[in-house]
Amino acid sequence: MTDDPLWAPWRLSYILSNKQQPPPDGAELELLDGADSACFLCQAAVDDNLPARHIVDRGEHVVTVLNRYPYNNGHLLVAPRRHLARLDQLPPAAEIELARTITRMVGAIEQVLQPQGFNIGLNLGEAGGAGLPSHLHWHIVPRWNADTNFMPIVGQTNVIPQSLEALWGLLVEQLKQRG
Ligand SMILES: [Zn+2]
Repeated sequence: MTDDPLWAPWRLSYILSNKQQPPPDGAELELLDGADSACFLCQAAVDDNLPARHIVDRGEHVVTVLNRYPYNNGHLLVAPRRHLARLDQLPPAAEIELARTITRMVGAIEQVLQPQGFNIGLNLGEAGGAGLPSHLHWHIVPRWNADTNFMPIVGQTNVIPQSLEALWGLLVEQLKQRG
């Protein structure tokens, strides 16, 4: 039996989902051409308030945010900065940056959260299950062997809840170190 805290990130989404500050409304933002002012990814594409929108990374063509409604701890959304619904609308440079960003994010998440696997994917179109079908975004969902099972809590084991804000800080720091 140990007194050490047990890291149990797969339990956190339930703890966190109802306790967040709403994102800024974005009324003051200068959006990119073709943007939808109500689209949170379009807002994240240009808003310099990175922590308020949980933006962990932004390149020339791609923005990456922590999902506010995670399936699992560390659930990221990787999106083109432009409000594009179709894969064939992506300029080649954005396609390359998207692929590289996904690889980089997996590396950072591995370092910070030590998941045992990932689900990575794109829900294309409403019938494909996209929550925001008009703006392409890839999900990166870290997975743990135990995350679909009930976790037994025994003895002195503590479960640490982690806020999106805390995770945002850890990921940004990790990405900075990776360059
Ligand atoms: Zn958008």
